Amino acid sequence: MIDTHSHIATNIEGLDFVVMSGANMADSKNNLILAKNNKKLLAAVGIHPQEIKDDINDLEKLISNGVVAIGECGLEFTDNVDKEKQIIYFKKQIDLAQKYNKALIVHSRKASSETIEILKSYKDLRGVIHCYTGGKKRIKSYLEISDNWYFGIDGNLTYEDGLVEVVKNIPKDRLVLETDSPYLTPVPHRLEPNCPQNIKFIYQKVAEIWEMSFTETEKIIDENAKRLFGIK
Ligand SMILES: [Zn+2]
Repeated sequence: MIDTHSHIATNIEGLDFVVMSGANMADSKNNLILAKNNKKLLAAVGIHPQEIKDDINDLEKLISNGVVAIGECGLEFTDNVDKEKQIIYFKKQIDLAQKYNKALIVHSRKASSETIEILKSYKDLRGVIHCYTGGKKRIKSYLEISDNWYFGIDGNLTYEDGLVEVVKNIPKDRLVLETDSPYLTPVPHRLEPNCPQNIKFIYQKVAEIWEMSFTETEKIIDENAKRLFGIK
């Protein structure tokens, strides 16, 4: 099992890998240290659209062979945000993913069409739409950009019926799973903070939806994650 998006590096027993998402410079630097000390922890470096205070020009200095992805980055058009600054930070991180051939972890909330519009102009980019909430109809729009886009599905799959339909519409070779720990805890632990080990409940739910065994499901999803992040 691979948790492709966590902000927490504990409770990882039983997992093969955990991708540590970077939300700001401090986080990103910490991810590099974590990855250096534990082979299971893989570092992403990035600046989240709600954390665009740090200087974006500093991010490039953190990129090395050990980094598997740039992000999480993207657009979150909720109240009172500087949309233009978010777009600048997003595009800058897309450029880095391209330059260094890294996966891009995209955070997109209330900004699906703007996100798709931007990603469309980069054909040779690969990445994941983290915590995908674009609904059934936007799956196609992302798939049309290129063959390199994946959908990250989280613990809310265990309690949101709409997401079951979404998962049924995502091609099996484009699905990756993520906990987004400490957020989005799946059933049966919803009242507790989330941790990477809870990823098993999301794998189990996908196995039920696909009507496949846990082992077969795990094999497909882990291959997807390895392809996306270049994990050997
Ligand atoms: Zn996150």
